[in-house]
Amino acid sequence: MRIVLASGNAHKARELGRLLEGWDVETFAGELPEETGQTFVENARLKARHVHAALGGGEWVLADDSGIEAAALGGVPGVRSARYAGEDATDEQNLAKLIGALDGADDRRVRYVAELVAIGPGGGEVTARGELAGTLAAAPRGTGGFGYDPAFVPDGESRTVAEMSPDEKDAVSHRARAARALREKLGSDPNFSGEA
Ligand code: IMP
Repeated sequence: MRIVLASGNAHKARELGRLLEGWDVETFAGELPEETGQTFVENARLKARHVHAALGGGEWVLADDSGIEAAALGGVPGVRSARYAGEDATDEQNLAKLIGALDGADDRRVRYVAELVAIGPGGGEVTARGELAGTLAAAPRGTGGFGYDPAFVPDGESRTVAEMSPDEKDAVSHRARAARALREKLGSDPNFSGEA
């Protein structure tokens, strides 16, 4: 079954295609709305509804939003994860800012959050959330992954996500967990066709 991802990011489409077995995930080439939501699910819904309407309302559409939340910062950077150190900040700059913000902090708990929203041809919406809990290392280690991975140490691990293989990350990641939850919700009702 074909589903259009509300993103032009081919890497993300491939990753979600691997995780959502049975779905053929395609990228969307058009404009996307500004991410003005206060929560991950609001932003994912904003993107999903925009693309659903842009395609005329008759297609399966998928959108995601994700980021990292630090407990000691009340959930910051959250929905601003990609722009934490500024509008055009690099992954390295964002990570350096978060490491600096937690400098000397006793509470180093962080979590990755991913929200997925799927809309069916009939307009029905399904949302699914995945989380990965961990702590933030004081300095980056490893070369794998992206974003905050070089300092993210999942609970029960001593390595950062950037020191894990892609398969190991896929087994535990917030996006993988959200995708599995979505897959179950879509699959649990054989009659679900996305009717509102
Ligand atoms: P978006 O969901 O593409 O808007 O990404 C949000 C931002 O959250 C990314 O730019 C990263 O900074 C961060 N992020 C989300 N998922 C991950 C991950 O798996 N590893 C590292 N950083 C992540």
